[in-house]
Amino acid sequence: MKRIEDYVISIPDFPEPGIIFRDITGILRDADGLKLSIDKIQEMLEGVEFDAVLGLESRGFIFGMPIAYNLHKAFIPVRKKGKLPRETVSAKYDLEYGTAEIEIHKEDLRPGMKVVIIDDLIATGGTVEAAVKLAESLGAEVVKIAFVMELAGLKGRERLAGYDVESVITYE
Ligand code: IMP
Repeated sequence: MKRIEDYVISIPDFPEPGIIFRDITGILRDADGLKLSIDKIQEMLEGVEFDAVLGLESRGFIFGMPIAYNLHKAFIPVRKKGKLPRETVSAKYDLEYGTAEIEIHKEDLRPGMKVVIIDDLIATGGTVEAAVKLAESLGAEVVKIAFVMELAGLKGRERLAGYDVESVITYE
């Protein structure tokens, strides 16, 4: 039986020299890899009570949606700025060069809702930290944050102190 790390394709020097890109399409192109990845995230959610999955654009949609469907929960997309048609709240975060901004539909989260945030990978943690801020600004409670992969050397987890954070695979 293959492990999930056996399906990830590591691409050196993409998108720039010195970066090893962890490509999840190697997981998705294999029926067993796809099932294993969803099953592993779903196992992390056993016993967690929540109302909705917040999926982070765009690979967080791929992993978040089947989990929301399987567990009969709502799915709420967190998108890059300018994509959502209704009233949004937004949060800026730092990239290596410059800043980025993500948004969520304001009326989709209500105070007291419990949410799980799902993305494919945590690197510096800037993206997920912005998503946590968005959810909390609308009164939601983040009860779990789940990733397929974690680049531990970038210490993104340190930005998430106090939250329940789990990753299927950790790279040093
Ligand atoms: P962070 O904000 O620095 O934690 O970066 C995380 C975001 O960048 C996630 O939304 C990932 O999809 C993306 N990302 C960064 N590095 C990789 C990688 O090696 N493989 C896949 N996605 C990556």
